[in-house]
Parts: sequence; C-alpha cells; structure tokens
Amino acid sequence: MIDVSDALSLILERADARPPAMKPVGQTPGLVLAEDVASDIDSPPYDKALMDGYAVIAADMRGGTAELQVLEEVVAGDTPREVVVSGTATRIMTGAPMPDGADAVVIIERTELIESGDASTVRISDDAVEAGQNILPQATSLRKGDVVLRAGRRLAAVDVGIMSEVGRHEALVYPQPTVAVLATGNELVPSEQMPGPGQIRNSNGPMLCALADKAGGTAVDLGIGRDDEAELSRLVQQGLEEDVLVLSGGVSAGVLDLVPKVLQDAGVEPVFHKVRLKPGKPMWFGVAPGTAPNTLVFGLPGNPVSSLVCFELFVRPALAALAGHQPGKQPTVEARLARPHRQRGDRPTYFPAVLREDSGETLVEPLDWHGSADLPTLARANGLAMFPAGRLGFEQGEPISVLLLD
Ligand code: AMP
Ligand code: MG
Repeated sequence: MIDVSDALSLILERADARPPAMKPVGQTPGLVLAEDVASDIDSPPYDKALMDGYAVIAADMRGGTAELQVLEEVVAGDTPREVVVSGTATRIMTGAPMPDGADAVVIIERTELIESGDASTVRISDDAVEAGQNILPQATSLRKGDVVLRAGRRLAAVDVGIMSEVGRHEALVYPQPTVAVLATGNELVPSEQMPGPGQIRNSNGPMLCALADKAGGTAVDLGIGRDDEAELSRLVQQGLEEDVLVLSGGVSAGVLDLVPKVLQDAGVEPVFHKVRLKPGKPMWFGVAPGTAPNTLVFGLPGNPVSSLVCFELFVRPALAALAGHQPGKQPTVEARLARPHRQRGDRPTYFPAVLREDSGETLVEPLDWHGSADLPTLARANGLAMFPAGRLGFEQGEPISVLLLD
C-alpha cells in the first residue's frame, strides 16, 4: 500500500498535457493558453480624442481666450484631412483620431461656435489648456509586437476581448481531456428504474460524469457494466478511446471484483493498487500505452463517498494537469476542530465536514456520517477533514487541515 502523496506523484508523472489545438477564441475561457499571443497593432492605433470638443494648439490658448477658424469636423471612424496650424481648430468627437498639428482637446462646454456663411469660427475661453490634455496617445495600452497573453495562462472572458483586439480569431490551447465513466456492478440499475430485490441505483456514474465536467473535463458516460469479463472488456475498450477512463466498483477483493484483471488483459499497465487512505483504500491506477497520449485509468471503489474522495484526491489533479495547468497545491485550509473526534486511526482519514466561521475563527465540524454509502450527509459537507493516521482521538480546538470541496 502506498501513501496518498506518493500515489498522486505517480499519477502526475504520467499526466502530460494533451496536445494543444487551435480553437475559436470564444470557446477558450477556462482553458489554458499554449502560445504567447502578441499584438498586431498599436492600441490605440492613433492619438485619440477622449472628449467632444475642439482640437487646438495649446499655445494658441495662452491668453485664456481665442477665436479660431474651424477647419473641419472629425467623428470616430473618420480620418482628419486638415492640418491644424496656429489660429485654427478642428471640431472633434470622442474616439476620433487627432488631426496633425493639434496637441490638445478643449471640451465643448468651453466653446461657442460662430457660423457665418461657409466659414465658421469658434470662440474658446479656457485659461488652463495644456498640451496633451484629453488625448490618449497612440500605443498607450499596447504596442505592436507586445505579448499581451503568455502561454500557461488560464483564459478568462476578458482575454477573449484582448485576443479579438489584437486580431486573433483563434488561439492555441490545451483541449479539455475527455473522461469515459463506467460504473460496474451486477446490482446496479439506471436511476430511472425502481431497484428490484438486491439492486441499487447507479449514483456513481452520473456523479462522476458531473465531477469530471465541472473539473474541466468532458465526460463520456459509458453507463453500467455487469460484473462479467466479456462485457467489461468490451466497455473498457470503448473507454480507452478517451484521455481518461474512470471506473467505479469492482476493485476490492470480492469474487466479482474483476476490474483489475480486465484492465490488465486490455493492456493497461498497473501503476498502483491500494492506497493508505480511508475511505478509498482499494483504489487502482494504471496507464494504457498505445497511440500518444496514453489513457490514464482510475479504478475507484464502488462506495459513493469513496468514489468522490478518490476523485477529489487523484482524478481532479490529473484532469488539471492534462488540461495544461501547472500542478498546484490542493485547496486546503487550517481550521479548529469544533468537537472531539474519534477514529480507527490505522489510515489517514478524509472525513466529510462542515467549515464555518465563528467570531473570526474557522471551525471544522465532522458530520455524523453513516459510512461510505452516505451521500446525503456528504452533500452537506463543504470539506473533507484530514485526520492523520496513528491517532485515535482528536480534541476540540485542535488544528486540522481541511480539503475544500467544490
Ligand atoms: P464494490 O467496490 O464494487 O465492491 O462496491 C462497494 C459498494 O459500493 C457496494 O455496496 C456497491 O453496491 C456500491 N456501489 C458500487 N457501485 C455503485 C454505484 N455506481 N452507485 C452506487 N453504489 C455503488
Ligand atoms: Mg461491485
């Protein structure tokens, strides 16, 4: 039996990012960028007026008032034709390019337009006009060739805006890993069916699909497989088409626990079986070599809580690595035990618990939990309290690490 941290290392050593692919930028939020993205333009691409008003030469306004000849009107989308020289001004709107010669924009409120026939003049009264005012100079926010997004970044919606601004319609990203999910067990029936004698509904399959989807994968539900070698072999072959195959059940020591044998017969190389952990000890992991990339195969114990704990500890970090994320630390917080806790103590235990704040302190309360099949209690938990092995009793107020649940 190996420790949780060693098991995770063995998994991550084999979880290389999937080959990157081009995707339309609108489909990239949540994915990791696999290239540096550089700008193909200056932004703004020209000196840009920030207010509606008149483009002037600041020096013309030294006296505080001036009457200037109006050359033309420029709105956003136009290009100015006239050069502003001393004694002249161009009427300009927000977002429009500055005409050559002008070095300031005076806001419309400080001006009065005087029209007489073809020629118009503007009377301006403003004794504080400074060169550069109300102008956003070209390339203020970025310069052509600047790298705007670096490889390795987890893309957000704002990055879709940036990529669009710099002329990118597609970007190279690590695709979401595909995750085949297969629930095994003769006792299982689909959730739409009323279980007969000796039967239970398949809760793991749909739960693991949902976990895989939320953890950045794309689930492929293979349904239920009977505890029968031929049937399991056929379904495993299907599962090995995907980046990851997650099975539940059939990895313990029972007579019908066929999963490790079926996987090995299918060419999956075992990496480890059994982890020092509770719940989740029977966990199996292997890799199916073949055409790159290799499929990672997780045999999770059938108990729903064991399945979920093993997913959080092992499958979630693997999916992140396959999707191109740098390995990070598990999301844990330190909390004080809200009440005494007892356990068997032979293995580290991940216990469903509720984290809460109480007068500035984070407390963790282990839930009254009816064993590995008790999903309703697990649904109330927002964390897994991690009780180390080797101790039977933990006192109220003791510091405990808690793994956060999604
Ligand atoms: P196993 O790991 O196959 O020995 O199963 C351990 C326990 O989990 C048994 O009580 C199974 O009935 C239960 N179990 C197995 N698979 C599922 C599943 N997909 N949904 C709910 N419970 C399951
Ligand atoms: Mg079983």
